Amino acid sequence: MSRVYNFSAGPAVLPEEVLREAAEEMLDYKGTGMSVMEMSHRSKAYEGIIQGAEADLRELMGIPENYRVLFLQGGASQQFAMIPMNLMKNGTADYIVTGQWAKKAWQEAGIYGKANKIASSEDENFSYIPDCSDLPVSPDADYVYICENNTIYGTKFKALPNTKGKPLVADVSSCFLSEPVDVTKYGLIYGGVQKNIGPAGVVIVIIREDLITEDVLPGTPTMLRYKIHADNASLYNTPPAYGIYICGKVFQWLKRQGGLEAMKEYNERKAKILYDFLDESRLFRGTVRKEDRSLMNVPFVTGDGDLDARFVKAAKEAGFENLKGHRSVGGMRASIYNAMPVEGVEKLVEFMKKFENEEK
Ligand SMILES: *Cc1c(COP(=O)(O)O)cnc(C)c1O
Repeated sequence: MSRVYNFSAGPAVLPEEVLREAAEEMLDYKGTGMSVMEMSHRSKAYEGIIQGAEADLRELMGIPENYRVLFLQGGASQQFAMIPMNLMKNGTADYIVTGQWAKKAWQEAGIYGKANKIASSEDENFSYIPDCSDLPVSPDADYVYICENNTIYGTKFKALPNTKGKPLVADVSSCFLSEPVDVTKYGLIYGGVQKNIGPAGVVIVIIREDLITEDVLPGTPTMLRYKIHADNASLYNTPPAYGIYICGKVFQWLKRQGGLEAMKEYNERKAKILYDFLDESRLFRGTVRKEDRSLMNVPFVTGDGDLDARFVKAAKEAGFENLKGHRSVGGMRASIYNAMPVEGVEKLVEFMKKFENEEK
């Protein structure tokens, strides 16, 4: 068996320890004589899994009592509709558009009400985060929406926007659990888990209790109501049971690593290795404003499309997978999520140096 260094943006690398544990428990989960995939989501064993996962996530993020944690399906993209359907009481929301995912969310919200784009960085191909300290927040906005880490472009909000008292809604898909967060600063935090936490099929929503109401837009399907899922502890219908189980294992792994403070340090160390090299390289350069750089997704280019393609191919042959950039940025992108070991980044930089020396 040999494992590659997987720099995929998502679904992405998971901790090897977690995969091994899951393999060991595959046929017989803790003496139940069955796999977690085969058990009733209403069984005692599964109750332990989902409740344990929630408790560990609460501990890791310091989630206050007045927030609910929901394990849902439909991916992050389903939330683009679910959020306005549940939160647009006044029929208005403000969106900060810093990339494709934020743009999609903004466009989707426009189906359900008035979605105002109050800031954008599209003028420079989303290569920076706009100043959000004094935006024209609408007086009747039900919430202000951001995509906190822009997976495709490699930017991250280093300071949260001034929402002027409106609830902040954040898509954290690609920075979930990468560093400590102050949950109280948000009305709703959500993310698809396949970037930094677990297998595709689970989306986690952390929502302040007062935002969970019966008062949703007319026509909102039962399955798209936060209240239904909150009242039923994420067991209204069959949840993505196996995916939640793996997420729970990743939460345990994160606790063993020392929690989110320790992850932040580790992620900063990894990102610095790559960014420092990009800043001094004669061949490669980063594509985003330095102060807005993501710790998780690092896009870079040579400036020559053919050379980029040759690099991606050579890297793949050397065991560095999924380095091709998103088509809207071109070049390369290294996603260095929690589970990417520091050795992976060190070896990638070594390889980039060698490639550079051979080219220039
Ligand atoms: C990947 C991604 C999405 C879309 O996730 P799906 O689960 O495929 O719907 C949305 N937002 C961000 C920030 C992402 O990285």
